[in-house]
Amino acid sequence: MQVLILNSGSSSLKFQLFSMPKETILCSGVVERIGFNDAILRFKTDKGSIELESKILNHKTALKLVAQHLLDKDTGIIKSPKDIAIVGHRVVHGGIFFSKPTLITEDVKEKIKTLASLAPLHNPANLEGIIVAEDIFPKAKQVAVFDTAFLQTIPEVAYKYAIPNEFLTEHHIRLYGFHGTSHKYVSEKAIEFLGKEESKIITIHLGNGCSMTAIKNGKSIDHSMGFSPLDGLIMGTRSGDIDPSIIFHLKDKLGYSLKETNTLLNKKSGMLGLTGYNDLRDIETMAARGNKECILALQMNAYRIKKYIGSYAAVLNGLDAIVFTAGIGENCKLMRQLVCENLDFLGIHLDVEKNNSDLRTIRAINKEDSKARILVIPTNEELEIAKQTVNLIKN
Ligand code: AMP
Repeated sequence: MQVLILNSGSSSLKFQLFSMPKETILCSGVVERIGFNDAILRFKTDKGSIELESKILNHKTALKLVAQHLLDKDTGIIKSPKDIAIVGHRVVHGGIFFSKPTLITEDVKEKIKTLASLAPLHNPANLEGIIVAEDIFPKAKQVAVFDTAFLQTIPEVAYKYAIPNEFLTEHHIRLYGFHGTSHKYVSEKAIEFLGKEESKIITIHLGNGCSMTAIKNGKSIDHSMGFSPLDGLIMGTRSGDIDPSIIFHLKDKLGYSLKETNTLLNKKSGMLGLTGYNDLRDIETMAARGNKECILALQMNAYRIKKYIGSYAAVLNGLDAIVFTAGIGENCKLMRQLVCENLDFLGIHLDVEKNNSDLRTIRAINKEDSKARILVIPTNEELEIAKQTVNLIKN
């Protein structure tokens, strides 16, 4: 069975085509810079890689281009759009509506749309991907897998905010958590690696968006993102934790509208706001050249992660492993080193040589005598989504 997984971002469309249940990747790639004249399609199969620059103004054109390459008689993989049995979509916010993979209907799309105000960078793009895929692959079953689903086991003591109760009961204002598919995937790999189901693990997903989850015996019990993906760690363009009264000050004293404040905190803050750069590789390069803002931003980023490690070790009442994953977590040796420094009281001892290895597989980078393991586990949200969609359709 061929399963196409789509992960639509605001200006990108990542895709992977799997043959299931074998989990073989038949094709993978991304369209970047959607909305621009110089958008790029990267398309990879066993037959080779294609990279082309083209004017791609919307997701529909992007997915049509992907479909065209999938169907191409020389470079392609499928003979007809009907060959795709399922299209699985990553959807960031499932709110109170969705706690498991869901077959997409008009009602489901309406609910994803309603939730757009809670995840303005993501849900509209996810919905756009669904609508376009329905048009291009009309015979395929369309399934949504929600980032919030794995975080549904977080107990009330952790998900409830200390505001009047009706805001939870009537307005569903609570912590939801995000990146659940990634945290689920890497925590299951970590449990397999540790060889014990009963475990206390902290997963640290550091990409453009960053979040952490406290996981006890395979179930999430707390998480750093909250009502929206703006909360918690310092991210590429998002501020993470701030005192909410800053928002009133921005409005009342500095004349910011709520829309401007939203844009400021979601798109102009985080590492970009601190340094002028969004990509951590640029920030590392500038820090190595002595740029003080970049050095401080890296330290602030690691400091925030450390604070969460401390609080999650407390709520877990112990710690078997911390797990680094995603673009920064998997690749940035410096960030892992800054995070693990001076955490020996928690039994965290980094092996610098292992940390500096360029291996791309699951690996432990702690010293032999480290009580807590430090793991680097490449995430694979697309495979996790493929597995979940197939399970749903089978059952
Ligand atoms: P993701 O959202 O998981 O694709 O991760 C994107 C982030 O990973 C960007 O901020 C990149 O700068 C960062 N990243 C990717 N490769 C590296 C690397 N080798 N060193 C540092 N950061 C990296």
